Amino acid sequence: MRPLEKKQMHPLEVLIRTERMPHIFCPGCGIGTVLTSFVEALLESELDLDKVAVCSGIGCSSRVPGYLKLDGFHTTHGRSIAFATGLKLANPDLTVFIFAGDGDLVAIGGNHLIHAARRNIDMKVICINNFNYGMTGGQVGPTTPLKAKSTTSVYGNFEEPFNLVHLMWACGAVYVARWTSAHPHYIKRSILEALEKPGFCFIEVITPCPTNWGRRNKMRTGIDMTKFFLERTVIKLHPDPSEAQIEMGNPIVCGVFVDRERPDFISAMKEQVADKVKIYEFRGDGRVEIPQVPKKSVLTPSTKKKLKDIYKIKIAGLGGQGMGLLGLIIGRAATIFDGNEALYTQEYGPEARGGASSSAIIISEKKVDVPYFAKPDVLIIMAQAAFRKYKKLLHPGCILIINSDLVKAKDIPEGIKVYGIPASRMAEKLGRSIVANIVILGFFTAITDIISLEAAKEALKMSIPKGTEEFNLKAFEKGYEYGKGKKTNT
Ligand code: SF4
Repeated sequence: MRPLEKKQMHPLEVLIRTERMPHIFCPGCGIGTVLTSFVEALLESELDLDKVAVCSGIGCSSRVPGYLKLDGFHTTHGRSIAFATGLKLANPDLTVFIFAGDGDLVAIGGNHLIHAARRNIDMKVICINNFNYGMTGGQVGPTTPLKAKSTTSVYGNFEEPFNLVHLMWACGAVYVARWTSAHPHYIKRSILEALEKPGFCFIEVITPCPTNWGRRNKMRTGIDMTKFFLERTVIKLHPDPSEAQIEMGNPIVCGVFVDRERPDFISAMKEQVADKVKIYEFRGDGRVEIPQVPKKSVLTPSTKKKLKDIYKIKIAGLGGQGMGLLGLIIGRAATIFDGNEALYTQEYGPEARGGASSSAIIISEKKVDVPYFAKPDVLIIMAQAAFRKYKKLLHPGCILIINSDLVKAKDIPEGIKVYGIPASRMAEKLGRSIVANIVILGFFTAITDIISLEAAKEALKMSIPKGTEEFNLKAFEKGYEYGKGKKTNT
């Protein structure tokens, strides 16, 4: 927890970016009240604020992270949950909040919302429901009550709105509460309760939007709307979610509707999948299981391979050519057997086979933090279509390795070393064309010296199905010998 500064200051200033005031909210808007409750809850929670992140999408309430002295992510329309999911899964230690309006969260981002609740991803969603799209001028939205007026329902809304509480209950959220901005202490209490609850927690706060919704529905000011909320609210103890539908003229039922136990996404995954997951590579006539790296590897590198530089390698071709496996073996050789660091990513087209496919590996003696690069040091190309696509990545000093049976490398700019190998024919001579990628692996090992020969062989053996080691090693040797000859000749 960050210490409070000693100078005289507003009690909430420790978390509010006062330099960004005045804020953009209209007079009488309820978002500020929710923000205050949120800050009060955080300060009371004693959470480590360096491990709190707030995500939002687009809309008036999505401006909230910008006023907080916390890690904040103002993302694209409807995508706050998708973004927050990545954040939480990549760093499970974070407490992740989402501030979102009803339109952004339930219409544009509706699919993300229901699936995050179903998966029970540990995030705390604060949904500011003002019954309309406020920021864009007051259009009808997925929570606009029946018969309510908006700029696009001037005769009254005729679409049945979502009952958000009921929806979240049905999708599996573990904590669901509803309040209005006239109940700031309850909002704060619910945020504190949600923090105690691992899993998907949803707090709906009905707030006034006098500018765009209130004035079209005979409530011109924030005070008119707040009075309306207070008159209509009925707070119940554990109310039934089906009672939460909002209708003009009827009570607004508030309270904690759902408070239940269910394993959250990460715990469920650890429990059920961690030791059983299998990786498949699609090659030749079908899929092949790739053996996993043993959990407690005895293969600790005896001699760490010295590297002169950081090496960025791009491999590209078509799905089914085994490029994923090629990248995996290079990465395993570099890390497990040469004792260096590597970061590996893959990219596929929509087709499993025959579509564009590429992978990228960065190998370094030091930890690699960023998975992307613009200019590869080595570009391995296995198909003509991939050459056309990635030719633009070539630059002086870069090494281009091609399967010369399938790629005709024309118009190569100056300063690029091109190494070709008839990998397909060599593989066919051995009896199986699908090992062309392994021939390329041997060739790459000899040409570049980025991974050691021993490491490449060990990584190859651990990455192929049992019983095929001899055959694959033969393919590797062919490529390696061919590469040694080429290197001497150049
Ligand atoms: S348009 Fe509505 S929701 Fe947006 S800031 Fe103004 S009052 Fe608030």
